Amino acid sequence: MDKIYCYHCMSYHRPESMRQVTTRAGLRWRCIRSIEAARNTTDARDAFGARQTELNRSRSIAEQERIMREYRRPDYRC
Ligand SMILES: [Zn+2]
Repeated sequence: MDKIYCYHCMSYHRPESMRQVTTRAGLRWRCIRSIEAARNTTDARDAFGARQTELNRSRSIAEQERIMREYRRPDYRC
């Protein structure tokens, strides 16, 4: 048996596709593919979060500007 047990997939992979990672349970072997997949998921989530934050900010700025315009609108009633 020249394969290493991957705690993430709960199966065996070839040693060249494995990396040792530190988990709460100590040093464990995990395959690069699952590490990369998790990293991509995190990146995508971060990008999504940043986009949402940006969207919310631009929305609230637009809302503020609208309120200010309404507030400053001159009253021509005489
Ligand atoms: Zn794996």
